[in-house]
Amino acid sequence: MDETYIFGHKSPDTDSITSSLVMAYLEKELGNENVVSCRLGNLNKETEFVLDYFDIEAPKLIEKVEDGANVILVDHNSPSESVENIENAQILKVVDHHKIAFETAYPLFVRCEPVGCTETIMIKLFEENGIEIPKEIASLILSAIISDTLLLKSPTTTDDDKKAVEKLAAIAELDYEVYGLDMLKAGTDLSSFSIEEILALDAKQIDFKDVKSIVNQVNTASIEEVMAMKEDLEAGINAIIEKEGLDLFMLLITDIVNSNSQIIALGNDAALVEKAYGVKLENNTVLLEGVVSRKKQVVPIMTENA
Ligand code: MN
Ligand code: MN
Repeated sequence: MDETYIFGHKSPDTDSITSSLVMAYLEKELGNENVVSCRLGNLNKETEFVLDYFDIEAPKLIEKVEDGANVILVDHNSPSESVENIENAQILKVVDHHKIAFETAYPLFVRCEPVGCTETIMIKLFEENGIEIPKEIASLILSAIISDTLLLKSPTTTDDDKKAVEKLAAIAELDYEVYGLDMLKAGTDLSSFSIEEILALDAKQIDFKDVKSIVNQVNTASIEEVMAMKEDLEAGINAIIEKEGLDLFMLLITDIVNSNSQIIALGNDAALVEKAYGVKLENNTVLLEGVVSRKKQVVPIMTENA
């Protein structure tokens, strides 16, 4: 049989990369020897951490497939997120946890479930086929579930994901909370960015009625680590306020593990944050518990109170 290419979506995350490795292992165990684990883009910092940690080689980088190529899609099924020329490939299997967004003119193996991570489904495939999960594979699957569910804290987490993590942590002999936090933290590493770059990473110009504002959000696993740069951040924010003629600059430092945001608010209308959330800024900063979404938990409340 010809080679079978296994890959996740473009701009790959940890689930997409490790899914292609885990699925390749599973396929070989099932007798499909001629499989190639692939990726459709560069590794992000979190995935780099995972592969370095377990000393595992990254999947092969590809951009397109030939007409008639055999492929297995993992962690995606939408053609727009897939490899170039997917419409002329032969899709053998799909294992995924996203909504169905493809169609074929031929029958194929499809396994999709609404769980937190593609690899939570793959564990079931191992079990159903009586295949043991080796330590290295368990470590990869564990990493992916932690990544997709933000250490089982995201609202997408299911009981299947929780059970899987317990089981895998035992096989991998890992304290998953300690390892998981290190892994998520690697993905939020700001050390290669300047203050100006951090303040622009995810900045959105949003006017709360006539309060001209910029709201920027930075994800972190350690608020303290970002707050260690507070003085430099404030100097950078004040420069932006002056340059752009802003009434308010709001920086959300979002703790993706504990689901809180530390706010740094500067500008003549910084008190709007106090009014909106019923809090008091101390040295321009305050912790807003449970606030993680700019779209749902910042914009409407700030607009309402402006
Ligand atoms: Mn993904
Ligand atoms: Mn996923």
